[in-house]
Amino acid sequence: MFLTDQWKQVLNKMENEVTAVTFDLWINTLVPVSFNNDELLIMAPSVTAKNQVNQPGIFEKLTRSVRSVFTPYTFVRITEKEEYEQINRKQNDELEKIANKANIVSKFNKKYTFENFVVGKSNQVVCAAMQSVAEHPSEKFNPLFIYGGVGLGKTHLMHAVGNYLNAHNPELKVLYVTCEKFTNDYVESIRNGKDKSNSEFREKYRNVDVLMIDDIQFISNKMGIQEEFFHTFNDLYQNNKQIIIASDRSPKEMSALEERLRSRFSSGLIQDIQEPDYETKVAIIRKKCSQEGYLVDDDVIDFIAQITSTNIREMEGILSKVVFYSSLLNKTHVSLDDAREALKDYGETQHTDLDAEKIINTICEFFKVSREDLIGKKKNKEIVEPRQMCIYLMNDMLNIPLTAIGSLLGGRDHTTVMHARDKISNQIKINPHTKTLVNDLKSRLLKY
Ligand code: ADP
Ligand code: MG
Repeated sequence: MFLTDQWKQVLNKMENEVTAVTFDLWINTLVPVSFNNDELLIMAPSVTAKNQVNQPGIFEKLTRSVRSVFTPYTFVRITEKEEYEQINRKQNDELEKIANKANIVSKFNKKYTFENFVVGKSNQVVCAAMQSVAEHPSEKFNPLFIYGGVGLGKTHLMHAVGNYLNAHNPELKVLYVTCEKFTNDYVESIRNGKDKSNSEFREKYRNVDVLMIDDIQFISNKMGIQEEFFHTFNDLYQNNKQIIIASDRSPKEMSALEERLRSRFSSGLIQDIQEPDYETKVAIIRKKCSQEGYLVDDDVIDFIAQITSTNIREMEGILSKVVFYSSLLNKTHVSLDDAREALKDYGETQHTDLDAEKIINTICEFFKVSREDLIGKKKNKEIVEPRQMCIYLMNDMLNIPLTAIGSLLGGRDHTTVMHARDKISNQIKINPHTKTLVNDLKSRLLKY
């Protein structure tokens, strides 16, 4: 309205400036498009019309008329239909790009869900906290900071939150990045130097409803990264957006962390995830087997849980190795023998330090009996049971012949040793308590 009114005044003036033919043929066909930053953009219906109007005589008069109506320093630019449309298209592309960027949402690993996450003593609190944030983002714990050792499920849980939100709250923008990605994005934005890319960076990180940053322990204090993170954090926090952070150590243990970030983190919930106990390890392997459709005997699952550390990623690797080996043999089922064979090298490198001495020491420590008593003649239950266990483990784990075990344990004869070994192996079959006890001892012995 404003523009066309002013344009009418320009036309009135021009009518007196040029001949009637020029006016009707060229001037009257012009259409004002925009007036921005002192530039009046005018569209001519054709290239010929544009060229005509651009002729010095006419153009000067037009500019003078425009300036008397608009501002004294208005710059007049004539465009033509095609050219204008092209510019427009380019601008739209730019706009679309920005819109797309603003719409950045992460794709999440479909396998990393809450359903696929095995909950045990070691991770139940962390899992519950993540679940409640997924169900009520920005309402419960904000920020939520989770930390724990490698391979304990932090990344899995973050993806689980992402998958849950995408399914239940698809309108929310959920962004998951590693600290490395965040850093690279930022470094790139300052390398490009211009305000534009910096605003793209902000557009991306400050336009989300849920921001998850994984492996924050890699945050450096170079290049103002912590500074930028601090601002991103504040901005989101003040706008009541959910922030979830994962780290392999607690904020207290992150020496390079600026104090103000540390204190921001502690304004929410800081929760650790611990190493899984034996039962949880077994449950996780079992879950992986059913998820992947692996047919694996129970004693193989026990075996894997025993020989692996608490790193669940490593445990998964071992499981795949065993399954792969058995598939090479065209077996439908993974048996303990095959598993042992598949992991021969793994076992050797892991347990070269396992010997009779270590078994004796571990038994004494675990049952709180003295070495003297273990090897000696006492027959009370408190001593006999550890002694039998010791014999069983020496034979089962190290394949030490029964006679040799006898002499290691104070010169006992071979039938006594055999009796002890058989007693434990029978009990393992009928008594779940004994089985757990043996597994626990084995995992202690094989851990390092
Ligand atoms: P982190 O990020 O803590 O290093 P990840 O989340 O990458 O560990 O977990 C390593 C692997 O272990 C993943 O494949 C994950 O699915 C699996 N995992 C970890 N904890 C569990 C669990 N409680 N239940 C099932 N799988 C788990
Ligand atoms: Mg991780």
